[in-house]
Amino acid sequence: RSLALGLAALTVLTVSACGDSGGDDAAPDTLLVGVAMPTTTSDRWIADGENLEAQLTSLGYQVDLEYAEDDVQTQVDQIGAMLDAGASALVVGAIDGTALKQVLGRAGDAGVPVISYDRLIRDSDDVAFYASFDNAKVGVLQGTSLLQGLGVLDASGEKTGAKGPFQVELFAGSTDDNNAKVFYDGAMSVLQPYLDAGVLEVPSGQTDFETIATAGWKGEVAAERMATLLEPYQGGVTLDGVLSPYDGISRAILDTVASGLPDAPAPQVTGQDAELDSAKLIAKGEQLSTIYKDTRQLAEVTVVMVNAALAGADPEVNDVTSYDNGAGVVPAYLLAPQLVTKDNYRAVLVDGGYYSAKELG
Ligand code: BGC
Repeated sequence: RSLALGLAALTVLTVSACGDSGGDDAAPDTLLVGVAMPTTTSDRWIADGENLEAQLTSLGYQVDLEYAEDDVQTQVDQIGAMLDAGASALVVGAIDGTALKQVLGRAGDAGVPVISYDRLIRDSDDVAFYASFDNAKVGVLQGTSLLQGLGVLDASGEKTGAKGPFQVELFAGSTDDNNAKVFYDGAMSVLQPYLDAGVLEVPSGQTDFETIATAGWKGEVAAERMATLLEPYQGGVTLDGVLSPYDGISRAILDTVASGLPDAPAPQVTGQDAELDSAKLIAKGEQLSTIYKDTRQLAEVTVVMVNAALAGADPEVNDVTSYDNGAGVVPAYLLAPQLVTKDNYRAVLVDGGYYSAKELG
């Protein structure tokens, strides 16, 4: 909301000089923007694609929106096809942040600006800008929320003095997504002192990123791992909480725990993305929290970047230090994520127009 970026203020870049050899009366070419999104298996990426397409189209761009269904080679091929079709700019939500160097090299050679969308594209010097949320803050909010759900911190983040020990398990996202480690590091920056002090215990002993990662961010993968962790809890230990990086994983964990520990109280489980099914669970008090990231704003920031890059201008960025992709620091615009719980879901999600009260049931 503090974002001083208005789409209305943008110059509409619909007239392409390249390839237009005609005189004044020649029909302007419409610039094509390729939008490569990772998957339709999660609501958020569908919303991302729709928002980007709508906003770019309203500015007069032609849009090629493709989803790669979490298959890296498919995404590489889709980006290649966009370049073949003469795309003037690319917006890429990467599946594997390290796998696009070669195809983006083609974009670089052709002078096609690439915007890294939500997830940092790694090891490529052909990435012009990065539009995302403050991903470290996402993790901090998740860790803080877990402590609040357990009663270790109060609603304002102050220590309650509760000593526990509380038994928790930890889940992280997909290791090929740069964000996953950033979320994990953010969450652990909050949780580690409580693990060290013995207020939190992890009965499985599994705390390092690689061990607790969830390949492809897939609920099934998380459910399978959760099932392998249940033994001590079936033996009487209480599972108090689970750090989950994303709503699809949170619901899989809640389901696995509900069927594996039918008589135990449900654990406090965090999440991310404010997916509709999770928002409903939060309203019912079954999922502790989620992190709301307004994808309409992210699309807006991205479209500003596309416009500026095509005009050879510098868009507004607010972070020029945090995201080194291995080939250099990528200038970024990071939006603020917001914690959503039972206490504020109406104010944030319904009053904010993300869901209607009816949708939430
Ligand atoms: C996004 C999250 C999302 C996750 C799984 C991450 O890169 O930032 O919002 O939950 O991917 O799709």
